[in-house]
Amino acid sequence: MKPVGAVAGASLAERVRVAVAAAAEHADEVDRDGRFPSEALTALKAERLMSVAVPPEMGGEGASLGEIAWICSELGSACASAGMVFAMHQINMANLIDCGMDGAWHRELMARTVAEQLLFASATTEAGVGGDLRHSICAVEADGERFTLAKAAPVISYGEQADAIFATARRDADAPSSDQVLCVLMKDQCELDRFVNWDALGMRGTCSHGYRLKAEAALEQILPMPFADIAAESMVAVSHLLWSSVWAGVASDALARAQAFVTAEAKKQPGSIPPGAARLAEAFTRYRMIEGAIRECLERWEEMKADSDASPTLSLALAMNALKVCVSTTALEVVDETMMICGLQGYKNGGPYSLGRHLRDIHSARLMIGNDRILSAAGQMLLIQRQPRRA
Ligand SMILES: Cc1cc2nc3c(=O)[nH]c(=O)nc-3n(C[C@H](O)[C@H](O)[C@H](O)COP(=O)(O)OP(=O)(O)OC[C@H]3O[C@@H](n4cnc5c(N)ncnc54)[C@H](O)[C@@H]3O)c2cc1C
Repeated sequence: MKPVGAVAGASLAERVRVAVAAAAEHADEVDRDGRFPSEALTALKAERLMSVAVPPEMGGEGASLGEIAWICSELGSACASAGMVFAMHQINMANLIDCGMDGAWHRELMARTVAEQLLFASATTEAGVGGDLRHSICAVEADGERFTLAKAAPVISYGEQADAIFATARRDADAPSSDQVLCVLMKDQCELDRFVNWDALGMRGTCSHGYRLKAEAALEQILPMPFADIAAESMVAVSHLLWSSVWAGVASDALARAQAFVTAEAKKQPGSIPPGAARLAEAFTRYRMIEGAIRECLERWEEMKADSDASPTLSLALAMNALKVCVSTTALEVVDETMMICGLQGYKNGGPYSLGRHLRDIHSARLMIGNDRILSAAGQMLLIQRQPRRA
């Protein structure tokens, strides 16, 4: 298979810059109209960034999670919705790569993603289960080599734009709610009947409408690993790292706007320190904590991946949960602080210091798998963790 590599010799940074510029140019319009960030996605596809994580032997570039996280953060700083769409796609891609290398159908899907720059969405949330990733009501109904699935999914981001949807379900109709599998469903195998419209406070461009999903597909499309293992060994950690990177991007752009505001104030009165400067330093301090927390978790993750004998420990799971709770909370504090710095210039829509979109987008962070739910799971883990201070 011909390796794809970089586009016409452009570096990864140059290609990301093109996509980020497209995302930034349309961010306000995407937010205002609650529409899909199609310009950003067109640019990401043109720059072949949808398949950047696919292993080289499958035609991709084998980008590390650190590189993907960096792209998420750059996109998030331009348009949180575009950043989150890219992050969610890459989370599904990580599942496909981690579990699909031995299956002909899954390998073919990776190759197709390289050739066609496919977009993956996910349907884990289910009516009656909410954000409890590890339980499903719907079940795979097998018939010979094929299966059907019907799922009431109150949130599937960009379901109508996606080329494939990764959906959790019980293994079969007799399986308990926690005995789940992850089904990869192609667009032409799904019927999506929209029953809830996404008209939300923020993240409006993710188009996270609710659907009654019906699908019919081949059994070989189901990822071979039990979903319990996919979640524990990779999906939760990758999700928390990539979501956090998007939120860090939102906070960094808010901080940049506040810094520009304080700098402009300082120029108006040379020799004096503007009143917002101390708050700016405080917001910057919080932002540094976010950056540090993401970097530390990424390092731990890469270290674990580099050791073929290692698998995620309870301590790593606790660290990834702490990361999600910490970044989602602290990024909101940073954006809130920047609003205090910019005052009405931040509160008004439009203009270089406007922060309304950032504040609305970042409010989704604590809810995207509710922090209370994550904390209550982490609390249970801490009961059996021997050295919590070393988590
Ligand atoms: C921008 C965005 C995009 C999304 N995209 C998708 C997508 O593409 N696909 C998808 O499947 N889902 C998606 N989701 C949904 C997300 O993954 C969660 O499922 C969803 O945010 C949970 O919604 P909820 O608050 O109604 O959930 P619930 O989990 O039902 O929780 C309701 C409330 O109860 C609390 N709670 C629940 N259980 C506990 C507990 N054990 N202890 C303490 N408190 C608890 C929660 O904290 C919350 O306040 C998206 C969410 C957002 C914000």
